[in-house]
Amino acid sequence: MSKHSGLYVVHVGSGLTLQSRAWHFTNPTTCCSLLDGKFTPESKVFSPQSPEYGPLAVYWTPAARLNPTCIFTPANAADVSRAVKLFGRKNCQFAIRSGGHSYNPGWAGIANGILISLSNLNEVTYNPQTGLAIAGTGNRWGDVYAALAPYNITAIGGRNSDIGLGGYLTGGGISYYANKVGWAADNIKSVEIVLANGQIINADRYHHSELFRSIKGGSSNFGIATKFVLETVDASGPFNGIGLRYPFASTDALLAAAYSYCTGGSDADPKSHIIFSSTINGTQPLVNVLLMAYDGVFNAANPPTVLKPFFDGTIPNPSFSFLTANGTSREAAYILNLSQKPGTRYTMGTLSIHVDYELLRTLRSIWIEETTPDLQTASGFAAEFAFQPVGRKWLAASAAKGGNSMGIKAPLAVLWMQPRWNSASDDAAMVAYTLRVIQRFEQAAKDAGKLAKFRYLNYGNRYQDIISHYGRQDVRRLQRVKAHYDPNNVFHRLVPGGFKIPGF
Ligand SMILES: Cc1cc2nc3c(=O)[nH]c(=O)nc-3n(C[C@H](O)[C@H](O)[C@H](O)COP(=O)(O)OP(=O)(O)OC[C@H]3O[C@@H](n4cnc5c(N)ncnc54)[C@H](O)[C@@H]3O)c2cc1C
Repeated sequence: MSKHSGLYVVHVGSGLTLQSRAWHFTNPTTCCSLLDGKFTPESKVFSPQSPEYGPLAVYWTPAARLNPTCIFTPANAADVSRAVKLFGRKNCQFAIRSGGHSYNPGWAGIANGILISLSNLNEVTYNPQTGLAIAGTGNRWGDVYAALAPYNITAIGGRNSDIGLGGYLTGGGISYYANKVGWAADNIKSVEIVLANGQIINADRYHHSELFRSIKGGSSNFGIATKFVLETVDASGPFNGIGLRYPFASTDALLAAAYSYCTGGSDADPKSHIIFSSTINGTQPLVNVLLMAYDGVFNAANPPTVLKPFFDGTIPNPSFSFLTANGTSREAAYILNLSQKPGTRYTMGTLSIHVDYELLRTLRSIWIEETTPDLQTASGFAAEFAFQPVGRKWLAASAAKGGNSMGIKAPLAVLWMQPRWNSASDDAAMVAYTLRVIQRFEQAAKDAGKLAKFRYLNYGNRYQDIISHYGRQDVRRLQRVKAHYDPNNVFHRLVPGGFKIPGF
């Protein structure tokens, strides 16, 4: 059997130590051939020559696409388990993909190795007696919402209906309902997971409780989640999704209103939800764009108190349109999906701050300064800078459900940068631009004494260190749980992509 070796990056403590350790991996072509005939007939292996391979190798953003040596599509958890055991025994490298919405090449994909694509694990059921839904990790949120709609309930999931479950939930998950019910991950009642030794277990608050907590923010470090039991919320009442726009000249007034919403508004009315963003689109002037949601009756002429400044002229020259007017959150997620179309090159980077009006203005200026004319002329260029509050009620709701591994202790705002462009030849420049802006944001927030430690995994750039920012206590728990459930470090050694727990 032919072998090749890989280099390994290890993070130790709070600093970053690079160690190059040589691991010997089985040649990926050999690994693919080892899969033949080992599984139930519904579980398939596709080589680049098979017609199914092309459509399966597609990602939401082509910037994340790598071409795996083969793609394995298991039909059930037992076959996921067989594959993980085989890969562990034979030292085969692999990647795990649910919805493929990650922006990072190599996170839910792999160039030399096997892609486990979980899209066939797509059951959705609902038990009206318990009020719980069961959903396979291979679903898109839109499938889950559609299956639950006849019961007038919904699950806590993506604001865009096309996002997958596995990455979103194990990374935290921000939903339209977050101010009321906390992180989506904290609305998992239990999870079925395939461990490194192939064992299939169910983890919840009472069984494998430390693992259960660790999965909520711990991404793919412990195993492959195959199925989630999810809490649901009432979706019988009207739900509103609204897009608002304000010109550049309104920016200061908008930031003042954003400060007020972030430092009390979202707690005062947790039925509300706002993403604050600005967009520079090609060489067009900056425009401020808000994605607002309201889980209740909404009338733009007389909006709920915390939303009034966004409509009543306090911020000059507003214009707005409904994604859904007194409709459902399912419709809002579907319509957002129509505007966040797959097929365009994107990257992302993130940071968190304790919200401060002057700091928001400084960050805005940094972003404008860094978005230089030469970047703006790149084909298809647009860049978004966005933030949203994670308030006290959000954090309290999460804590009441048992908590997660993300280590957030106080309210903050999650920020993100998201450029878009057309050509692969601009990939490196766009990633560098994103990291440059995030680095300057970090320095500015530090200087203002407003930098929060937390970084949101699902918005992280592959060059960012995410999990060590969860804080010492949570990182220690993650390390302990990792050592217990994955003693041979299968999900780091053999899965090169994804945000890793420091020290492994
Ligand atoms: C258009 C768009 C809209 C978005 N909107 C939101 C939003 O509203 N709220 C929000 O919080 N985030 C949002 N995101 C970010 C999103 O949460 C992440 O991209 C998330 O990772 C997507 O989940 P996925 O299942 O598609 O992940 P994938 O891309 O399939 O995987 C991402 C990571 O998770 C790992 N992973 C995937 N499945 C499993 C599994 N079953 N077990 C273990 N590890 C697994 C992968 O190996 C990979 O490292 C959005 C992204 C896009 C592109």
